[in-house]
Amino acid sequence: MEPFVVHTREKRGWIEVICGSMFSGKTEELIRRLRRARIARLKVEIFKPALDTRYSEAEVVSHDENALRSTPVDTATQILLLVGEADVVGIDEAQFFDAELVDVCQRLARSGVRVIVSGLDQDYLGRPFEPMPQLMAVAEYVTKLHAICTVCGAPANHSQRLTPGGARVLLGARDVYEPRCRRCFQPDPAAPTSAPPPASESQEPSPEALQDEPG
Ligand SMILES: [Zn+2]
Repeated sequence: MEPFVVHTREKRGWIEVICGSMFSGKTEELIRRLRRARIARLKVEIFKPALDTRYSEAEVVSHDENALRSTPVDTATQILLLVGEADVVGIDEAQFFDAELVDVCQRLARSGVRVIVSGLDQDYLGRPFEPMPQLMAVAEYVTKLHAICTVCGAPANHSQRLTPGGARVLLGARDVYEPRCRRCFQPDPAAPTSAPPPASESQEPSPEALQDEPG
């Protein structure tokens, strides 16, 4: 749930996590909260991983093109260097950062910053997508959003990949993924659902190796 934010002079930080499958409205919810913080005249900074270049280099863009200016960063540590005097920090596509993002968020929250993190909670095989589980554990508030299953219309919590391929990170939108419920989700169309992922799965692809599907 979103905290009921009382505007006081006391600078008190915390962590909010917004998670869910693709097309569940995570970025829209992040943007909504950040817009409200701006209306309250709080200083807002927004960061996203530099590798998420689907739409725009300098904006947090959701699938409905509802955009806010953001700063692309290569590592989570860069957020600490660039955060300045921000009261509220938004971080989009958090699943593309490594584990140090958890420590970065903790340090920001301890220093009095309201940290709002949005990201995929599961990868295309339905596995928890680090560092989201760790962030959810240390957050004060967690919001789990659902998309609509494209097969049966039920609430969807999985991202079904529509193209074969072993890379955990495969950027793209409607042409690569669709939301599915637990019953309709087929983690890997080419393999039985109970099969363990191949050994190459454990290696994170380098950004250069990613197949980027433009907008
Ligand atoms: Zn379904």
